[in-house]
Amino acid sequence: MGVLDGVTGLSRHFTPESLAEHLLSRATPNPDGCLIVRGYGSQRGVHQKIAGRAWAHIAAYAVFVGPLEPGLQVDHTCGVKDCIEPTHLRLATHAENCRSRTQPDTCRNGHPREVNPATGRYRRVCRACNADAQRRWRVREAEERRLSQTPEGIAAAVERYRSVSGRDPGR
Ligand SMILES: [Zn+2]
Ligand SMILES: [Zn+2]
Repeated sequence: MGVLDGVTGLSRHFTPESLAEHLLSRATPNPDGCLIVRGYGSQRGVHQKIAGRAWAHIAAYAVFVGPLEPGLQVDHTCGVKDCIEPTHLRLATHAENCRSRTQPDTCRNGHPREVNPATGRYRRVCRACNADAQRRWRVREAEERRLSQTPEGIAAAVERYRSVSGRDPGR
C-alpha cells in the first residue's frame, strides 16, 4: 500500500514528496494556527480540491500524518474546512465527524450562521440576532420617550431633578 493510495482523484504524477510540496506552496498560516489551503475553489470555508481532483485535507492527512484508513474520514478538529494543518486533522468515523462539529451551523436562535471570508470560520455575532436586538432596543427607547412626555413622566423627571440637585427646575 502506497501512502497516496487512499487519496482519490489525485493526478498520477504526484509522489508523497511532490504532493507535500504542492500543498505547502498553496497554503498560508492564519492567526488561529490553521494552515489555509488555496485549491481550485475560490470560496473560503469549504473543502478545497487540489492536484487533480483530490480533497486537500485528505491529501494533507495522507502525506503529513498518514496512513488513511478505509471507512474513516478525515475530520477537522478546528472546524475550518479549508485548513490542512496536520495537527488539526484526525481520522474519525462518519458519525463522530458529524457529532464533533466544533461550530454548530445555526445560532442559538436557529439562524443560519455566516462564514467570515477572512478566517473561514463562522462569525461569532449573528447578524439576524443583532438586528432583532437593535429593533427591540429602538422600540423600548421609543416607548420610554413616549412615557417621559406624559404628565406622570414629566412629574417623575421633575422629582428626579429635585432629588439630584436639591432645587426645583427653572429656578
Ligand atoms: Zn485548522
Ligand atoms: Zn441568530
